[in-house]
Amino acid sequence: MRETNFLIENNARHLWHPMAHPAEMQATPPRIINAGEGVEIVDIHGKKVLDAVGGLWNVNLGYSCEPVKEAIRRQLDDLPYYSTFRGTTNSPLIELSYELAEWFREDGLTRSFFTSGGSDSVETCLRLARQYHKLNGQPERTKFVALKKGYHGTHFGGASVNGNANFRRNYEPLLPGVYHLPAPYTYRNPFDTTDGAVIAKSIARLFEDEIAFQGADTIAALIMEPVLGAGGVIVPHETFMPLMREICDRHGILLIADEVITAFGRTGAWTGSRLWGVKPDFMSTAKAITNGYYPFGAVMIADKVAEAFESNKTAAGSIGHGYTYSGHPVGAAAALATLKETRKQNVAANAGARGEELIAGLEALKERHELIGDVRGKGLMCALELVSDREKKTAAAKDVVQKVQDVTYDAGVMVRTSGANVILSPPLVITAGDVARILTALDAGLTAARG
Ligand code: PMP
Repeated sequence: MRETNFLIENNARHLWHPMAHPAEMQATPPRIINAGEGVEIVDIHGKKVLDAVGGLWNVNLGYSCEPVKEAIRRQLDDLPYYSTFRGTTNSPLIELSYELAEWFREDGLTRSFFTSGGSDSVETCLRLARQYHKLNGQPERTKFVALKKGYHGTHFGGASVNGNANFRRNYEPLLPGVYHLPAPYTYRNPFDTTDGAVIAKSIARLFEDEIAFQGADTIAALIMEPVLGAGGVIVPHETFMPLMREICDRHGILLIADEVITAFGRTGAWTGSRLWGVKPDFMSTAKAITNGYYPFGAVMIADKVAEAFESNKTAAGSIGHGYTYSGHPVGAAAALATLKETRKQNVAANAGARGEELIAGLEALKERHELIGDVRGKGLMCALELVSDREKKTAAAKDVVQKVQDVTYDAGVMVRTSGANVILSPPLVITAGDVARILTALDAGLTAARG
């Protein structure tokens, strides 16, 4: 490996980072991560920290999951690539689609379409949702409804349904015909209440109102995360997603559950939809499907939707969509091994138990740190929202949030920041001791940022 200075200089010279200003990355070089072991990562200086970000919500089983590594090695030897466009397929992929049908049967999703990641999965859902309505003789159903603060990746379709201006403004104009409802966010909302059930009902009413205004016969789908992730871990009231499902059903609108983060156990349930007792029409997945070791995703499709495609023998039912890496055999092998380990280690149960400990610990930190305005979480997706004034809920300054992250890192734990939120999404295999370690390091970070 080249020496540290070469790497830092050339990172600044040649490499643009996602979700970062190139100039900022030049002024403040990012940490270079060289290794991962268990639930820890090791930076170029040899410093070992507990990765409370879990890669990027995806390394659910940690960095030493040998069966997944071995499956990738073996598949590289057997068949490193072949396309799954019309006419060819591969055996790990067939086995994977069989396993996924078992995995998601309870959610009513038994067909899969493969992608290279979350943005591809979202795009696939949006496109197939439109095609479904065309197949059903309702070609005017082309519009999408989404939630403010929702995050659905970065392709133009996904960016169009995203609910955060940071991911939209510089790329406009986006898709026409996309409408946003308020987020089910108890801490900040336009309804003057912190009552989650009231917020859920209010958003449902706005959804009905928007449908009446647009015309139900123009709306293809509602897309939503069961727990909003990148928008700051917004956990809706338990009535929210069922209410949205019921409204969709009544108006012939499809429900796309974007479960790129929540599928495979992160909330303590195996899927976010199941957490709320809802069956979606499409589910986008990616991230933890390969434990982050290989870029891969799967869209799961409800039987009702699948039957419409499969029973229509005309060109209208043919899928004019797909990626060179749809169904990559190495990704499929990685996913198969990941699913097996995920089930064997029953990580959803651990996410639920450790999540409760973590959230209780964060609440305790809130008692002692004025900087914490709000604590949110479900399972092992949690957030602290930092404020400079609790009464006025003024968002904490950028340098204060950065200080929390830096000092927490120095104290041995990597956390992520997004706006004024500190986001925690550790591997789902963490122990109670790891939870304590996260809380101790965060305490140090919050204490230092208080000044
Ligand atoms: N949807 C959701 C809910 C996500 O959290 C993400 C990524 N954080 C995406 C879509 C996009 O996934 P990717 O970055 O793999 O394209």
